[in-house]
Amino acid sequence: MPEGGVSRARTRSSRCAGFQFSAAAGPLPDAVLDRVQRELRDCRGNGASVLALPFTSKAFRDLAAEAVAYLRALLAIPDGYRVLFMQGGASAQFAAVPLNLLHGRSTASYVDTGHWSAKAIAEARRYCTVNVVASSAASGYDRVPDSARWMMDAGAAYCHIISNETAHGLQYRSTPDSGDVPLVADMTSDFLTRPLEIARFGLIYAGAQKNMGIAGLTVVIVREDLLGRAHPCTPSVLDYGVQVKHSSLYNTPPTFAIYLAGLVFEWLHAQGGLATIAESNRRKSARIYAAIERSEGFYRCPVQPQWRSQVNVCFRLANETLTPTFLEAAQCAGLFQLAGHPSAGGVRASLYNAMPEQGAEALAHFMEAFAARNA
Ligand code: PMP
Repeated sequence: MPEGGVSRARTRSSRCAGFQFSAAAGPLPDAVLDRVQRELRDCRGNGASVLALPFTSKAFRDLAAEAVAYLRALLAIPDGYRVLFMQGGASAQFAAVPLNLLHGRSTASYVDTGHWSAKAIAEARRYCTVNVVASSAASGYDRVPDSARWMMDAGAAYCHIISNETAHGLQYRSTPDSGDVPLVADMTSDFLTRPLEIARFGLIYAGAQKNMGIAGLTVVIVREDLLGRAHPCTPSVLDYGVQVKHSSLYNTPPTFAIYLAGLVFEWLHAQGGLATIAESNRRKSARIYAAIERSEGFYRCPVQPQWRSQVNVCFRLANETLTPTFLEAAQCAGLFQLAGHPSAGGVRASLYNAMPEQGAEALAHFMEAFAARNA
């Protein structure tokens, strides 16, 4: 374990130390925060605060290039793929994807697995005909639809999935096969939580605020053959070809968020890389799911076991009227931000990369004690 450990999920409040389980933004590793503190006033001998580095300076370009190099190494990104740093969140990518990838075609395929799929579909409908090739809406988003049964459209420009549905807590276990149609994945909530075979994808995008640092940065990994044919109305900042040409510096980028992502990539590398991180994430989620299963119905997870997310564990109390009491008692025990997404309700524990295993253990322990007291 490198200096500082992993526990910035542990927050300090006037009442008690604790862990924050928010789905919206992940914690940052202690080691990363310590480094930021050291470099805040003078970033690596450049005589300027990292907050004030001009994006045009060599110092910033070096930081950005280092971040890309770490990311390429972590994911073993093959030649033929470009890494872009963009803005506007994953929501901007909901538009950028059709604008860049339709290439004159009129249809795109989307798999509907819940809240974020619906958002991506609604935005894409502004630009093309969306074919929803599979949906788990009928079963209350309790699974990822079996890819062998997707009604694939060979003429689609691309096939879009949400690799992890943050609101409903379901996650693809493996990469689905979309045949010759380029696979596009929104990985905002599970990017860098496990190894990936990049060559299976045409394009991947992810907002940084859950597993890579702070809001303001979106990472895009795109296969080169998909570049350079954006619709003429595409805003330049959303045009992947333009961004590639300018090494993501077409306009002022979110410099601090890029610097921070670079530090997180370096930290992930020091942890042993994505295989090690994935193992830790598996253990964290397994601990919470075990507490649910062992509760004899006091808690229940609406998602089928094989599709349960390892990063957003969603569950409900059988007696739903106890949910506010559960959330309040959890907060008093230093377990923060556990309310479910407004569209799903219930409880949601987000276990992003920088959540230490002690955090999952503390929550499981609390759940067991709460069930014992209220059964
Ligand atoms: N996709 C997924 C899977 C998400 O979880 C989120 C945010 N929670 C978004 C897209 C939207 O991200 P942003 O608010 O950064 O646009």
